[in-house]
Amino acid sequence: MPRSPSDTPFASETGDPFLLTPGPLTTSRSVKAAMLHDWGSRDANFVAINKSVLAQLRDIANGGDEFITVPVQGSGTFAVEAMLTSLVPRDGKVLVLINGAYGLRAKRILDIAGRKTVVHQTAEDAPPDLKKIESILKRTPSITHVFAVHCETTSGILNPVSQIGELAARYGKRFLIDSMSAFGAIPLDARALHADAITASSNKCIEGVPGLGFVICRRAALEASQGNATTLVLDLHDQWSNFEKTGQYRFTPPTHVIVALHQALEEFNAEGGVEGRGGRYRNNCRVLIEGMTALGFKPLLKTGLQAPIIVTFHMLDDERFDFQRFYDGLKERGFVIYPGKLTVADSFRIGCIGRIGEREMRGALDAVRDMLQTMGITGISTQAA
Ligand SMILES: *Cc1c(COP(=O)(O)O)cnc(C)c1O
Repeated sequence: MPRSPSDTPFASETGDPFLLTPGPLTTSRSVKAAMLHDWGSRDANFVAINKSVLAQLRDIANGGDEFITVPVQGSGTFAVEAMLTSLVPRDGKVLVLINGAYGLRAKRILDIAGRKTVVHQTAEDAPPDLKKIESILKRTPSITHVFAVHCETTSGILNPVSQIGELAARYGKRFLIDSMSAFGAIPLDARALHADAITASSNKCIEGVPGLGFVICRRAALEASQGNATTLVLDLHDQWSNFEKTGQYRFTPPTHVIVALHQALEEFNAEGGVEGRGGRYRNNCRVLIEGMTALGFKPLLKTGLQAPIIVTFHMLDDERFDFQRFYDGLKERGFVIYPGKLTVADSFRIGCIGRIGEREMRGALDAVRDMLQTMGITGISTQAA
């Protein structure tokens, strides 16, 4: 039975501040407790747990038998780099859609690996232009792949991956998705998206601890990728073939991270999967935006573009507002927020994801109100814009 967002008592049992950030995030006590053991990497229990984790991740993307999860030790970027450098052949060319830091990072990975790219870049508060994408695909037949970021965490914008997938399929291009910050909270269907691969990590909406990235790959794309990789550790084909042969990781796996991820997936299922988790985050996001707006802050994005993952707010236009003091004061009050990474506006971000519910969001709003008073900022708008 999914729990309602407001009756989940998430108060930090460890005394640590809540992480209202793009990750790492606040995790449950039971996820942390799952790590209080040591496992050998060849231990039969561990091997079974790992196998179950990989199958569950594929099921969240509705991958069926056509898809395989290949794990990559490391943070999310390790998995993005593994996906791009293993699945794009050395003579491939990728259309990279950029509207934030993670699109730029993908381009950088491809540049370093010597893969050709074509870029379609829009402002951080604007989705890619589907008409432009179509005209690029039409006039550049040498493009082999399209890369998109699902939720661009730089701003919190939700990019239209299904329409991009349609276009890629219509022009016969393979589609690669960085769904790092959306996976598990926003519905995603690998087959309906015509995707060749989707990547995410242990420590975002699945609410595990950091240390494992993964790529959910179309079996046919994985099989065709032998010899593409330019590094040993990030070679998805080699990692996968070794699993097929031995059930083992090639190199030391982060055993504790994987067992914690298994526990996190049980809690994810208990909450009602993508629907339940997404519902809690949407409620967090609504409470946050309503509360911050009432306190005089303006969100960067138009409502229809905002993913319920992380919200970018403009800095308050008031000379008494000192961001460092605001940030430090919120942390003292138990909430860690995140500086902005935008070029279009001076901003900061507050996350809606992790083991937090409505109570924590309201607690954060109380802390924000308190800090505004401390900085002498009164007479702010109480009108929801
Ligand atoms: C978090 C994130 C990543 C990976 O970041 P790491 O710091 O390497 O874990 C990649 N893409 C997006 C969109 C993200 O939000």
